[in-house]
Amino acid sequence: MVLKPEPIFRAIETLLVEDQPDPEPGDEQKRTAIVLMTPQGRVFCHAEAERLAKECSRMVLLCGRYEGVDERVIEHLVTDEISIGDYVLTGGEIPAMVVVDAVTRLLPNVLGSETSAVHDSFSAETGGLLDYPHYTRPAEFRGWQVPEVLIGGHHAEVAKWRRRAALLKTLQRRPELLEKAALTEDERRWLAEIGTENS
Ligand code: SAM
Repeated sequence: MVLKPEPIFRAIETLLVEDQPDPEPGDEQKRTAIVLMTPQGRVFCHAEAERLAKECSRMVLLCGRYEGVDERVIEHLVTDEISIGDYVLTGGEIPAMVVVDAVTRLLPNVLGSETSAVHDSFSAETGGLLDYPHYTRPAEFRGWQVPEVLIGGHHAEVAKWRRRAALLKTLQRRPELLEKAALTEDERRWLAEIGTENS
């Protein structure tokens, strides 16, 4: 079974005409994305979420079922095709929820500053690294200590520790991310030393 083109075109065209939200300031240059969830699309990642959050004032997500949608929907209506990974689900609803969550949390004023996305794993601001380890109170739990530097209140030292911890974690868990990461010469040298010590 394949989803027919007529109801999909009708639904989306009606939505685009009748359900126009008031434009937010700065939205003039942004586009409306008609996104088909499909295992054949570009594999979704944080950079893709950042791109959509920046480029789009509006996203319409189209979820397939059965064998998917008639190819003419893809050729003449859809602007983006997204897959959430190399496996096949029964429908596009769960992929759509993944995309909605990942994109909306990058929009201004969605997260509070305490949960701000700028230091999260993969974010452009960190250069695409994994996040550094986090700790909260108490400073000692069952004999396990929070690293001393994080309790000292020296902001520059804390920032340096966090950056190195993020580099180390990325090296240990996802070394391939370092190839594309935005790193300084010092950081690359430090990683090379660490890598040599651990090999
Ligand atoms: N015949 C399709 C194929 O092999 O490429 C698979 C269709 S799948 C059973 C039904 C629907 O689930 C798809 O149209 C799509 O909307 C959604 N879907 C399944 N896996 C997905 C994935 N990895 N990413 C995004 N959407 C997916």
